[in-house]
Amino acid sequence: MARYVGPQCRLCRREGEKLFLKGIRCDTVKCAITKRKYPPGQFTWGRGKLSKYGIQFREKQKLKRFYGILDRQFQNYFKKAERQKGNTGENLLAMLERRLDNVVYLLSFAPSRKSARQLILHGHILVNDKKVDIGSYLVKTGDIVRPKSKEITQNIVKANIELVKGRNIPAWIQSRADTLEGVVTQLPAREDISASAQEQLIVELCSK
Ligand code: SF4
Repeated sequence: MARYVGPQCRLCRREGEKLFLKGIRCDTVKCAITKRKYPPGQFTWGRGKLSKYGIQFREKQKLKRFYGILDRQFQNYFKKAERQKGNTGENLLAMLERRLDNVVYLLSFAPSRKSARQLILHGHILVNDKKVDIGSYLVKTGDIVRPKSKEITQNIVKANIELVKGRNIPAWIQSRADTLEGVVTQLPAREDISASAQEQLIVELCSK
């Protein structure tokens, strides 16, 4: 009998890739996708080859799940990315990567993007010394992200940093461990994006 692995892990297995939805478990050998890479379900052998549309759709779903956003929000990001100069796919990825919940996660203030959103929502995070309680806030160059100085916030964040010790921080964010803050030194380039999506396929799908 197949072992129940929880909804998040089922999503990863459906996409065939790690989406890092479950905090520290994702970096351990307990990760369900490390154990079994095939899709969930009893009759996986009956699934045929995906059509071109199917492949494009899966790429889009993967990206949405990775950043934890809904379809409506995704469409809005795509429209904004289209209006910007340059490559639409790269603009889209850069925008998603700049979300405050993603930055809080990358700085190890929270074990997963979902818990980073909770931390932000509950007013624990400051950007340039002002409370920002919207996970979709887009950081810009020069922004300083840090937890509130309240004892309870500091304790939560310190415990999380300890929990996820060793997580890589991308080059576009400078982490100042002593003051428990992160500085956005530049906007993320394509090679800095943590999601492994084929953005061209998504652009083809969304431009139809
Ligand atoms: Fe589960 Fe692994 Fe996906 Fe994390 S990365 S949600 S542990 S399958």
